[in-house]
Amino acid sequence: MKKVILIRYGEISLKGLNRRYFEDILKKNIARRLRPFSDARIKKVQSRMEIHLTDSDECDVIAAIKDVFGIAYISKAYVVESEMGKIEQAALALYKDGKTFKVETRRGDKCFHLTSPEISRQVGGYILKNTQNAKVDVHHPEILIEVEVRKETYVYATSIKGRAGLPTGTGGTSALLLSGGIDSPVAGYMMASRGVELVSIYFHSSPYTAEEAKEKVIELAKILACYAPQMKLFVVPFTEIQESIIESCDIEYLTILMRRMMMRIAQDIACREGALSLITGESLGQVASQTMQSIQATNAVADLPVFRPLIGLDKIMTINMAKEIGTYEVSIRPYEDCCTIFTPKHPQTKPTIKSVLYEEEKLGDYQVLCRKAAEEAERYQF
Ligand code: ATP
Ligand code: MG
Repeated sequence: MKKVILIRYGEISLKGLNRRYFEDILKKNIARRLRPFSDARIKKVQSRMEIHLTDSDECDVIAAIKDVFGIAYISKAYVVESEMGKIEQAALALYKDGKTFKVETRRGDKCFHLTSPEISRQVGGYILKNTQNAKVDVHHPEILIEVEVRKETYVYATSIKGRAGLPTGTGGTSALLLSGGIDSPVAGYMMASRGVELVSIYFHSSPYTAEEAKEKVIELAKILACYAPQMKLFVVPFTEIQESIIESCDIEYLTILMRRMMMRIAQDIACREGALSLITGESLGQVASQTMQSIQATNAVADLPVFRPLIGLDKIMTINMAKEIGTYEVSIRPYEDCCTIFTPKHPQTKPTIKSVLYEEEKLGDYQVLCRKAAEEAERYQF
């Protein structure tokens, strides 16, 4: 009986002719995570992958690959010849006496001489006959033994849910405006789950924003990089721009003008990094700068498509996602962001493009400032 780690896909299996392309990238991404395990060998089989190990611990290997996008389930499985005696033995080896159990079968090989219910019944009977205290429970079994009959047969009892989605690198590159807040890391995660590679950009206003605020973003970027490997982070010096807005413009327009500058700089960096879109953590109506009018005014400076995956999400949903992906605890550390520090008492919630342009003109040649900020950005690689 051979033991393997069995990988099943979700959405990739729905792909038609270009499924191979997605599978090959998934295999490469898994292989990258398996580098520390020199004995691990990945084998592609029809709509599945098997990982074969000689020495490494299965649990360590599973922990290393569990966050790879594109994987729907990971199971420790036996691979046996598609023959009833072998299947029964494997199932028995997975069963622990005294527990309730159920056998479920999927028959990929339609030529196999028994139907799926017949296989389940026969394997269940074998377990009952060869143990003392086994009991079947079809509704809430303590052990679910799954049998997949194909050219060879997989038998497994534990499946770990993967993150599903599409493999990183299949969806192009996008530049994420990553603040230290709760929302933007979640937005980045959501796009990464669609196979997108991320370049993160953080606008830092030293000394108004503490060094800890930057450290916080670096930590968030590290967490995101577990899902979107090889991520870069650019820390853009934003103080000069922020000061010039405060000096020259009506303070009510501070946030919206800052956002427009952020978009311009992010777009500049995105283009240099080969990113074809921008991502923000905006959610409609959450704060003054996220009204429809504000979003329109921000969006007007962007030529690249701007993705806002949280736009229709309730804050509670976003918080739950942030907790699940592990960014929440870092995001709630209390260091101020450049946007909160000079926030006016009554920010413009419904700016018109005309009024925004009027205020922006007071800044003179802001393009020079934007270019300078983009060029002076610090670069980190994860
Ligand atoms: P977040 O929780 O992501 O900070 P938020 O609810 O605080 O979002 P805003 O402060 O209005 O919302 O910011 C909206 C979006 O603008 C953020 O989600 C992020 O994408 C971007 N953004 C804001 N401030 C910064 C910053 N200092 N650096 C990079 N991006 C930023
Ligand atoms: Mg914020």
